[in-house]
Amino acid sequence: MFFCSEAYVLNKEKIGEKDLLLELLTPSGKILSIAKGAQKSKRRFVNVLEEFNFIYAHFRKKGQEEIPILEVADLKYLPENLRKDYSKFLLFSYINEVLSQVSYPKLEVEYFFWIKEFLKLVNELSLESTFKVKALEILKSYFEWNFMGFLGWKPQLDYCVSCYRVIQRLYYFSIPLGGILCINCKDGESFLLDQGVIELLRKFIKIPINLKEFLSMLTFSEVKTLIELGEKYVSYFLSYKGKSLRILKEALSNGKIS
Ligand SMILES: [Zn+2]
Repeated sequence: MFFCSEAYVLNKEKIGEKDLLLELLTPSGKILSIAKGAQKSKRRFVNVLEEFNFIYAHFRKKGQEEIPILEVADLKYLPENLRKDYSKFLLFSYINEVLSQVSYPKLEVEYFFWIKEFLKLVNELSLESTFKVKALEILKSYFEWNFMGFLGWKPQLDYCVSCYRVIQRLYYFSIPLGGILCINCKDGESFLLDQGVIELLRKFIKIPINLKEFLSMLTFSEVKTLIELGEKYVSYFLSYKGKSLRILKEALSNGKIS
């Protein structure tokens, strides 16, 4: 059986001396595929099977249980700046690690194209050095919040998650309940959140978004809360265990970003 698909290269791993095992994200989910002879034959797959590339892949599959063989791959989009810019590279290493570890059975098509648009945007975005750490933190948080949305954990920000009343003032946020609580329903695990942060988060998770414009209008204190809350939210729901996040955060916090 033959089939074709657009695919995003999440990972590649050497098998023996000749072959590569690829982990690919496609519009119909993640798949593993073997590229025979890809370590040796540079001609067939020259620069194509690299992490962060979007390819158009032609597969051949024998039995139901067999891993599909990658016969031919054409390059669709090569994010050159991610390879030249270390901080962008670290950001997407983290994203790829999350995508690789976490399963997302729903919304594959929309999800795939959202990742593609986001990667293109980050690749093409020119970031002034003075603003770069903040921009990268925001981009990371933007990915995290929206990724949670795709997994079905989009925070509920329109009404109290307990009594369903619309909240006028005094918003409490509960991570375990995944949304806001009113003053009557607040519990020991919820905490008061500034209305400005709630409004910012509403905009943040409403895609598509003009990220360039968004990046320029944020104030640091608002965005700091949003970033910290996002991290807690992600770590509460996801069982992500990777080293890329630590490396990215270290680079961001000690300013080793160029
Ligand atoms: Zn309530």
